[in-house]
Amino acid sequence: MNSEHAALATTLEQLRIATEKLQLDEGIHQILKKPKRSVIVAVNIKMDDSTIGIFNGCRVQHSDARGPFKGGLRYYPGITIEEVTALSMLMTWKCAVIDVPYGGAKGGICCDPKKMSKNELERLTRRYISLIYDNIGPRKDILAPDVYTDAQTMAWIMDAYSQISGYNIPECVTGKPVEIGGSEGRTEATARGVVYCAKEAAKAANIKIKNARVAVQGFGTVGYNAAQFMYELGAKIVALSDSQGGIYCEEGFNPAEVLRHKSKSGSVKGFKNCMDISNEELLQSNCDILIPAAVGNQIRKDNVNSVKARIIVEGANGPTTPEADKALFEKGTCVIPDVLANAGGVTVSYFEWVQNLTRERWPLEEVNAKLEHKMAKAFTEVNKLALEEECDMRTAALMLGVGKVAEAMELLGL
Ligand code: NAD
Repeated sequence: MNSEHAALATTLEQLRIATEKLQLDEGIHQILKKPKRSVIVAVNIKMDDSTIGIFNGCRVQHSDARGPFKGGLRYYPGITIEEVTALSMLMTWKCAVIDVPYGGAKGGICCDPKKMSKNELERLTRRYISLIYDNIGPRKDILAPDVYTDAQTMAWIMDAYSQISGYNIPECVTGKPVEIGGSEGRTEATARGVVYCAKEAAKAANIKIKNARVAVQGFGTVGYNAAQFMYELGAKIVALSDSQGGIYCEEGFNPAEVLRHKSKSGSVKGFKNCMDISNEELLQSNCDILIPAAVGNQIRKDNVNSVKARIIVEGANGPTTPEADKALFEKGTCVIPDVLANAGGVTVSYFEWVQNLTRERWPLEEVNAKLEHKMAKAFTEVNKLALEEECDMRTAALMLGVGKVAEAMELLGL
């Protein structure tokens, strides 16, 4: 089975376990196994060299029982409908766990953005929106940035959607530049959420954040900001990595200085007073809190026994395999699952949508205070359920998420 099919199989297995533990009606389980709507489109555009580029795109809308569909749009080669379907389902549970009034969706275009010009990417984005226009919108499905799409992509989406509608509609998309209606704090929101979860988990495990040893895999938007916020709280950042490898220093270092080094040298490797390590060694480093914030399938059956962290906060989507999850639970490691830990992004996306609908602008302090409140509340609910059910936090989070969606479906009636 390839990894995309494996992702869908894992997501469906997680749903099966949650529905079984919640003793839900088998009919509800069968409905939740499939997305409500999958739209497949041929995104054909004129390339810069006048040839015709043909790209496959999709938008998968899993559930809107709790509110309009919501989810990212990703661009990369090899993307499959199975992978997008699995991600749309995870978005449904994530929105329910963090309690924002949305259902889950995800979109993708199979293309290699690194080989395309900015003009080609703009034409691709506008064409895609014109093809799915009838199925999206501020009350139907709100798009957001994801892998290889950014605030600029969201600005094109806002303009394409507004042009067809005939008036300016910022609330059709989140993660926009602040200048055209984006929210303060959206870029760092996922990392802030990760750090709020780490704080709550440390409190529950009697670990003081001050001087706690932290290792972060991935040095992008989530990884860098999470490391920086942990550092500002007094934690000791002992290990960091990017796709080329990592660094380790027992005494700790300042992530902002590592960022300056990376911007000159292209990698975190070679930073002063540090030992260069591999990504594999980073996962095994001597730390209290490990934050995987890069890609999926990093903590697996073959390396889980070497993981020393007492708390793992999943900034990335799917960094821990189901076998590793089981082993970590058995050895008492607290894993804060992606559906909870990285829900800060969708939470501030929701705040952006509310600000757009009401034509308000909230200051950064207000956004962060509201985010912390939501993250802490969701953490407490998931942790309480995990203790009651004597299960890991992933199972508890999925039970909470799936349970809320099933409840909405039952109330709405079938
Ligand atoms: P990004 O592209 O900004 O950063 C990714 C980082 O990971 C880069 O530093 C890259 O060098 C590193 N990396 C890539 N492959 C690696 C590997 N094999 N080993 C180690 N490092 C590697 O991405 P991001 O926005 O920070 O997202 C990181 C993860 O968080 C992804 O899994 C993403 O799906 C998830 N996530 C992000 C958001 C968000 O708001 N940005 C929200 C929810 C989930």
